Amino acid sequence: TNIEESLNLKIKQTPTGSTLTCKGWVQEAALRMLLNNLDPDVAERPEDLIVYGGRGKAARNKEALVLIIKALKNLEDDETLLIQSGKPVGVLPTHKDAPRVLISNSQLVPKWATQQHFDELEDKGLMMYGQMTAGSWIYIGSQGIVQGTYETYSALAKKHFQSNLKGTLNVTAGLGGMGGAQPLAITMNQGVCLAADVEEWRIKKRLETRYIDEISYDIDQAIDKALTYKKENKAISIGVVCNAVELLQRLLDRNIVPDTLTDQTSAHDPLIGYFPEGLSVEQANALRKENPDEYIKRSYATMAKHVQQMLELQKRGAITFDYGNNLRGRALEVGVKNAFDFPGFVPAYIRPLFCEGKGPFRWAALSGDPQDIYETDKLILELFPENESLRQWITMAQERIAFQGLPARICWLGQGEREKAGLAFNKLVADGKVKAPIVIGRDHLDTGSVASPNRETEAMLDGSDAVADWPILNALINTAGGASWVSLHHGGGVGIGYSIHAGMVIVADGTEDAAIRIKRVLHNDPAMGVIRHADAGYDIAKDTLREHRLGLK
Ligand code: NAD
Repeated sequence: TNIEESLNLKIKQTPTGSTLTCKGWVQEAALRMLLNNLDPDVAERPEDLIVYGGRGKAARNKEALVLIIKALKNLEDDETLLIQSGKPVGVLPTHKDAPRVLISNSQLVPKWATQQHFDELEDKGLMMYGQMTAGSWIYIGSQGIVQGTYETYSALAKKHFQSNLKGTLNVTAGLGGMGGAQPLAITMNQGVCLAADVEEWRIKKRLETRYIDEISYDIDQAIDKALTYKKENKAISIGVVCNAVELLQRLLDRNIVPDTLTDQTSAHDPLIGYFPEGLSVEQANALRKENPDEYIKRSYATMAKHVQQMLELQKRGAITFDYGNNLRGRALEVGVKNAFDFPGFVPAYIRPLFCEGKGPFRWAALSGDPQDIYETDKLILELFPENESLRQWITMAQERIAFQGLPARICWLGQGEREKAGLAFNKLVADGKVKAPIVIGRDHLDTGSVASPNRETEAMLDGSDAVADWPILNALINTAGGASWVSLHHGGGVGIGYSIHAGMVIVADGTEDAAIRIKRVLHNDPAMGVIRHADAGYDIAKDTLREHRLGLK
């Protein structure tokens, strides 16, 4: 109880301001970002240490969390804390430019890398699922994904429609930590969004943060409203409380074909993340506890149906794509042979950006003061005046994005741009234009940091989808370059056995040492992506490689 009480207090209020509670700003940053991940305004289920993405956790359990907090507070500037699947296991001597924390989450020897084996280990308290930014302490709430989702729908609109989604009906499901960004990203692209989620509280949470506009409890009424908004060219989003398959079935029965169709339920996790049809949320939660095997069986059956419905709507004309939750992979596992007839969002829309080293670059203001982020916004617009879509994004983000936890911003920047921005942020801190250091990081869903054959590396030009040397090299080069903390994870996004990926965070504390590290790390990190894609044969990546002299000498 003592642990519970003291933790609850700590988690409720991420430390802010310009006073150190650790022995250096890098340790302080790790502490604040860890607690920020678990802030009730940020995390999906902070009481269980779950940040987002099914059971993506920031620490293995409450005891481990207490020990991490203590270790960070005592950590010297020449020491490194080691985290093994969410538990601190040692502090070893390193040096001032080395990462202060090294994290490995959910790694299993490939032959044993099954969900079932992982679940057994988790039950025994030996492992934790780190998802991507949950276990690597750089999750910034749903905003983190809004930009990526905005980029995806914007790329889709440019490819298939005029240039935006005006007058289109966009159907999806799953309004959790990541999926909750979909309605906002769609309306920012001027389309209508109709999204299903079985859990009412999720939709209510999105209403509170202004990511969704309306909630509905009646599928037909929701469909009718969405069609009216489409006709009137109104950019409005509706969340309907139902199972995804119920919404798609009504669309099929009424022969209504959405313009675009995708899904972001947590299909990567059939037991904890996905809800089978025919059960209320309470019944499902009870079944999950009482008879997990039966739950999983029902989950798979619903996922198979879900994909079949998507395939049918695709046949009728909906632009259909997988949104990185491995729904197709699950359906294939239970015999839906043509599950991969609709593409994943990366090969369909995002890969050309990866080839330029672009990806979800983000930063947070450790002061907790939104004004610091507005300063960085201003700076970004000054640094990249020619980038019109960046201007549009920052303007819309300022208007529509409610900060959760520490104020943060995300924008997709590429090779060359990230180091430029990082150095400029460091100068902002040095010049006292912001009240405390800025933390810079990115999602693991990035250009050079992930091997995930059903998602980021689906359908690579040279067939190297499953080659995982790249994320390992990424973690190693970020460690060698002096990132503030580096993480290597398994199973993020698509589930155990399906992906290996790395994360990095670098702190701009205004010092000269930080500037040197930032220049190295923010150059090398996207460079891994350019090199990876050039190696696979992509022309855009080869051009970027030449332009930035990233190749062999
Ligand atoms: P989450 O667990 O926070 O939320 C999932 C939501 O789906 C929950 O609200 C749940 O109620 C709902 N849900 C589950 N089954 C459902 C069903 N059958 N019908 C209707 N609703 C259902 O997860 P999240 O963080 O939002 O992530 C969602 C998925 O997207 C995960 O699989 C994640 O790995 C993946 N993801 C994709 C990207 C990307 O960029 N494409 C990025 C991160 C995560």
